Amino acid sequence: MTVEVVVIGSANADVVVRVERRPGAGETVLGSDTVLAAGGKGANAAVAAAKQEAQVALLGALGDDQHGELLRGSMSGTGVRLDLVRTTDRPTGAAYITVTPDGENTIVVSPGANSAVDVEQVEGAREAIAGAKVLLASLEVPLEAIERAVALAHEAGTRAVLNLSPVAELSPQTLAALDPLVVNEHEAQWLLDGETDLRKLLDLGPRSAVVTLGSAGALVIERDGTTEVASPKVTAVDTTGAGDAFAGALVTQLAAGDDLVAAARRAVRVAAVSVTRPGAQASYPTRGEVDSTEG
Ligand code: ADP
Repeated sequence: MTVEVVVIGSANADVVVRVERRPGAGETVLGSDTVLAAGGKGANAAVAAAKQEAQVALLGALGDDQHGELLRGSMSGTGVRLDLVRTTDRPTGAAYITVTPDGENTIVVSPGANSAVDVEQVEGAREAIAGAKVLLASLEVPLEAIERAVALAHEAGTRAVLNLSPVAELSPQTLAALDPLVVNEHEAQWLLDGETDLRKLLDLGPRSAVVTLGSAGALVIERDGTTEVASPKVTAVDTTGAGDAFAGALVTQLAAGDDLVAAARRAVRVAAVSVTRPGAQASYPTRGEVDSTEG
């Protein structure tokens, strides 16, 4: 199997219930009907890339259960290849989300099958990683597996991109292989330990970095200069999964030969459309929909 983009990361069922207020300890409250949606950072980014017409495969793990079926359907329905997805005897990862009328949420993540992604599985995907133009990693699967995938990409000359979400301590070798490291403002602050000059991210070792700045767009940091990439002005209704849309679109463009700034310019347009619609994967635009927006 040859694809342009391999995404290593999580696939979760998002189980969402609206409540008037959250229960206290030992208490029961009634909630709305359950809304079940396909999510997880890896699956989201893979779907975003597929909708931007990248040939893309997810390297991840699912359970042999209904949530797994949901994820398989959402990914294969948008063209994500599932050849590198392992079915495990652990349940599919799930995120249990409550939303109150003020829009605040609480989330309990049960990683389940995502925890079963291991170095051996990554080794089994060696050829696909070597044959791809770009590897995209995010961090809801075990760190050893991510670091092995980045190392294989690096060895093979496949461009390695990592979205450091949720934050984790990466080895110097992994950091040095990234082109770019992608972080949001909170993750950047965590890495920089109070330092406000975002260009200092390159001192950690990556060849380049991209900091996403919410409605302000993104900052592209390269050795020879820094470029601000403004976002189109939109009315945001739901920013869930915006970072994953950005990452999926970014790697699609890099795989197609764009330079990093051009790729980021397209990625902010994709992410801007995604925040104008509810949901994560369901909010991601097709390539044609993005073409019809002003950029
Ligand atoms: P994360 O979702 O990972 O916290 P950000 O909030 O920085 O990261 O959002 C990722 C990207 O999504 C941004 O770089 C931007 O392109 C887009 N985005 C997020 N919020 C908005 C918004 N309110 N308006 C327009 N674009 C947005």
